Amino acid sequence: MINRRKSRTVRVGKIALGGSYPIAVQTMVNTPPDQIEKTVGEINRAASLGAEIVRVAVPDKRAAEALADIRKGTDVPLVADIHFNYKFALMAAEAGFDKLRINPGNIGGEENVRAVIDKAGEKGIPIRIGVNHGSVETDLVDKYGGPKPGAMVESALRHVEILEKHDFKDIVISIKASSAMETIECYKILAGKCDYPLHLGVTEAGTAFGGAIKTSVALGHLLYEGIGDTLRVSLSADIEMEIKAAWGILKALEIRRRGLELVSCPSCGRTETNVYELAEKVEKALEGTKKDIKVAVMGCMVNGPGEASGADIGVIGGKARIILTRRGEVIGRYDEAEIFDALMKEIESFEPAKPAFIERPDLPISK
Ligand code: SF4
Repeated sequence: MINRRKSRTVRVGKIALGGSYPIAVQTMVNTPPDQIEKTVGEINRAASLGAEIVRVAVPDKRAAEALADIRKGTDVPLVADIHFNYKFALMAAEAGFDKLRINPGNIGGEENVRAVIDKAGEKGIPIRIGVNHGSVETDLVDKYGGPKPGAMVESALRHVEILEKHDFKDIVISIKASSAMETIECYKILAGKCDYPLHLGVTEAGTAFGGAIKTSVALGHLLYEGIGDTLRVSLSADIEMEIKAAWGILKALEIRRRGLELVSCPSCGRTETNVYELAEKVEKALEGTKKDIKVAVMGCMVNGPGEASGADIGVIGGKARIILTRRGEVIGRYDEAEIFDALMKEIESFEPAKPAFIERPDLPISK
């Protein structure tokens, strides 16, 4: 049982973050924003893969000027990622972006901060403060002997204070380290110091495989402790991998459900069917399914019946033929060459006992 940390709620377009709202999946597109069609296409692809909020970097004026057209091309909740230039933040808010990622301590004097806060308030959009290793101020690095978790938390809270001083509380915070251990420590400290919703992530986590493992360890730990309201898995890989990994983390912790849950054995000397091939084929075939279904692919009769009995549909390798089960009942026996088609036919006609695909409820658009 996960006891979720109590946090405020902020709104990012049709998505709410924090409180008891579902933990949202984010990603970030890497197309040049001034290539509008390409960027919109990538945002919509991310959404179709399961991203609920998509971030767009705003590196220069051309990018800032493209934001209004990007906004027109999609209804996906969008975040503008801005460093230092407060004018880009104003342009993003004016363009209809749903959230700003900007650190108020880095955008110049009071006047600039006031301008961004006023615009965000007028548009009803939150600001995410994002601190990572590289952005910690020198005095804090000196104080803590490096960009340690304590330094990163203090840095984030400094930015928070600036917003609070102006009575702005629609805040989300992220503190990302590239080490899983430091990320865990940062968020644990931060979680006890404020009630703002937290955006989880490990920065520069690595490639698809190693980065997903590192992120799963860090975010899995935090989410299990009830910490975190939205997450992004940052990988040196296509956004599809990021989104899949994010959902994988949420599904493994039984926080949210989406599509296929596959149970398959590693196979061993007792294996009587090609588990790897069959499991991969099933996973591929059901990629993107909205059907809430658990499928077990097991190599032999030793552990197969047990696992298959807890699955909606099971395949168990047998001496002469491969057994197909539905909720633990044997419904057919097939040869190796026939089993995949038989399995897929069964999956297609299967009616989940639970309602199909719990989508998060969209909020009415009122801004
Ligand atoms: S289910 Fe059978 S084949 Fe698969 S790992 Fe267990 S004992 Fe081996």
